Amino acid sequence: VLYNQIQEAKGNIRVFCRCRPLRKEEISAGNATIIDFDAAKDGELGILTGGSTKKIFKFDRVYTPKDDQVDVFADASPMVASVLDGFNVCIFAYGQTGTGKTFTMEGSEQNRGVNYRTLEQLFKIAQERKETFTYSISVSVLEVYNEQIRDLLASAPTSKKLEIRQASEGVHHVPGIVKAKVENIKEVWSVLQTGSNARAIGSNNVNEHSSRSHCILCIMVRAKNLMNGEYTKSNLWLVDLAGSERLAKTDVQGERLKEAQNINRSLSALGDVISALASKSSHIPYRNSKLTHLLQDSLGGDSKTLMFVQISPLEQDLGETLSSLNFATRVR
Ligand code: ADP
Ligand code: MG
Repeated sequence: VLYNQIQEAKGNIRVFCRCRPLRKEEISAGNATIIDFDAAKDGELGILTGGSTKKIFKFDRVYTPKDDQVDVFADASPMVASVLDGFNVCIFAYGQTGTGKTFTMEGSEQNRGVNYRTLEQLFKIAQERKETFTYSISVSVLEVYNEQIRDLLASAPTSKKLEIRQASEGVHHVPGIVKAKVENIKEVWSVLQTGSNARAIGSNNVNEHSSRSHCILCIMVRAKNLMNGEYTKSNLWLVDLAGSERLAKTDVQGERLKEAQNINRSLSALGDVISALASKSSHIPYRNSKLTHLLQDSLGGDSKTLMFVQISPLEQDLGETLSSLNFATRVR
């Protein structure tokens, strides 16, 4: 309830900033953090840009490297739960490769991230509401690479291209993708595993491949209100975006150049769409990338958007960090 009051007052876009901790090797190599978390509680992040200069950025939340997966999910949880009340929701992890996007969204078996915790919470609330609502939950796992959609739950690789179609006003879909119905968290875990195994197929370096593609978990909720017999449908998208880093021009040729251009294009398109929504612009440029086109029905209107901007604590990453923080400031 409180969350929705805040939403009304502040609009539907939230930006949370998370910095990964320094690694042991980085500390022993003499690195110190360039991030100042003194005012993190007030949503302020300071960044030492050289000399005695400090630049301040403001977000809806700023996590310190001590904040864990539970702390992060506690803030995201009211938003994800609202999908059960019929809202469409998008959650993105944005940032340079190596800053913790996958850690935040997927996490590990010991340190589960937003994806798993979200489904766990949805099942829990659905159970609590079983006298008044019947929920049916399905998931799709997709990848967008080089502006092409791949279905990571498809049992056999198909040569047929997956395309976004519009069924009716406000209803976009991808005909032919697998929608796995899930009844409990155990089933979810096996579906997520299938998806991540499929990601590895056809790439000789999984980490590199995943840093250049967007990984998308779509949770589709169908609710039947047992009081009045009405049905509602809503979607929750959880997106681990491709790395936002700019590649050195000299390194980029051929296939890598095409990849880099596609990543740039889709991340800028996402930034353009969210900032157009934030400024209540009359034209929202959804069609400029596969990603924004795919998520169109869940970006804007009364949908809710949460962006995790992930950053590095290292001085050597200052340029990329500033560019990510500027991106996140633009959409807020
Ligand atoms: P990205 O997906 O942005 O490329 P990863 O999620 O793969 O980055 O994170 C890079 C490394 O840093 C991984 O080893 C990950 O476990 C670690 N890491 C990232 N964020 C955190 C965090 N908040 N706490 C502990 N380890 C983290
Ligand atoms: Mg990753």
